[in-house]
Amino acid sequence: MSATVVVIGAGLAGLNAARILHRHNVEVKVLEAGDRVGGRVATERFHGYLLDHGFQVINPQYAELQDTGIVKDLEIQNIPKGVEVIGERSTILVGDFRQDLRFIRDSISPKSGTIREKLKFLRYLIRNSEDISFGAAMQDCGRLYSEVLEPFLTGVVLSDPSEISNRMARELIHWFLRGNPGVPRGGVARLPELLARELSIQLSTTVRKIESTRVTTTVGKIDCDAVIIATDPISASLLLGKTPPHMNSSVTYYHAIDEGEIESSYLRVRKNSPVINSVVISNSAKDYAPAGKSLVATTTLAPLQRDELNGELKLIWHRDARRWEFLKEVRIPYSLPFHGAGQDLVQESRISDRLYLAGDWRATPSQQGALLSGRKAALAVIRDLSVA
Ligand SMILES: Cc1cc2nc3c(=O)[nH]c(=O)nc-3n(C[C@H](O)[C@H](O)[C@H](O)COP(=O)(O)OP(=O)(O)OC[C@H]3O[C@@H](n4cnc5c(N)ncnc54)[C@H](O)[C@@H]3O)c2cc1C
Repeated sequence: MSATVVVIGAGLAGLNAARILHRHNVEVKVLEAGDRVGGRVATERFHGYLLDHGFQVINPQYAELQDTGIVKDLEIQNIPKGVEVIGERSTILVGDFRQDLRFIRDSISPKSGTIREKLKFLRYLIRNSEDISFGAAMQDCGRLYSEVLEPFLTGVVLSDPSEISNRMARELIHWFLRGNPGVPRGGVARLPELLARELSIQLSTTVRKIESTRVTTTVGKIDCDAVIIATDPISASLLLGKTPPHMNSSVTYYHAIDEGEIESSYLRVRKNSPVINSVVISNSAKDYAPAGKSLVATTTLAPLQRDELNGELKLIWHRDARRWEFLKEVRIPYSLPFHGAGQDLVQESRISDRLYLAGDWRATPSQQGALLSGRKAALAVIRDLSVA
């Protein structure tokens, strides 16, 4: 098959689509508006610290990531699979006790829900039910939901988890239970960099218009046999003249502290706090901070005033954060697409003759979803062009 395919966007979806097309000997041109690959997966070097573009972890067990064959090269530095939940009166440590026996005590304690609530949750995990909101599906899970799942999952889906699709929530929890997430040596940007290593990518090239198989960019026109739009949902909707899906926003604050000031490597969450999680990321990934220092990443859904942030950090870490060195605030207004009940876990890639869509918003709002949508789009193109 001798064909040229244009892939618009070098995020995880576009890179995976391009990688698969390339492996099938299809000539592929990746056009990327930005000056780097990776889209929402990025890392900045800042005064010796590695600041990811928002706190983000990579689950090496994601099936789509396994399929790329790059997991070993990522050199994932694992973060313990547990969460410290700060309550009004006490802190509980819950997590996957198959990994660490320290999680058993609080995971079976009534503080994290009754036995009945936990059994209800287990039943939810193993049974496929109709796709209602996660909040409705968790109605019988009482304290387990309100004390543990809700505060933890807010940081995963970057919105109120009670409103998301329960099928999507189940998928995310399954991945969490199956894998051991962490961050690569060198920052999360290693993931798109490794995916891009065999590809030729035209950076700083924004696509303005798509007319059948002609693509107009800021630097000229390209004729091709098929087009995959693998941009973020807002840009895709602009190119297609459609209404964009709702996007959740997030802000991550980075602070430097002295090494050893906080020893915990766990993600900390506090119920009903505007801070959705905070973690001393360099306690798990040493290369994220220079010698003698540690890096704290704290995420919220909306910007906070500095005083409010410091007040919340005091409640979470029991430390005076006014003394910490403030490094940076990373605002991401369009972090994750909202995935509501009734939305398919993966949508059709082909939207018209020779035009295909990929991106996390076409599957689940995750790296797994983005990679999967890219693979599906590439395989649909290969199938259609071979029979054309
Ligand atoms: C703060 C944060 C935390 C996250 N945490 C996790 C996590 O822990 N685990 C997890 O699995 N997932 C997480 N995710 C989700 C995951 O990062 C995304 O789902 C995934 O990266 C989306 O990839 P994508 O290729 O669909 O889109 P994008 O990454 O948005 O890529 C789209 C690309 O298209 C380019 N583009 C846009 N318009 C044009 C145009 N007109 N012409 C050319 N190029 C264009 C953009 O510049 C961009 O590079 C997180 C996301 C964020 C923001």
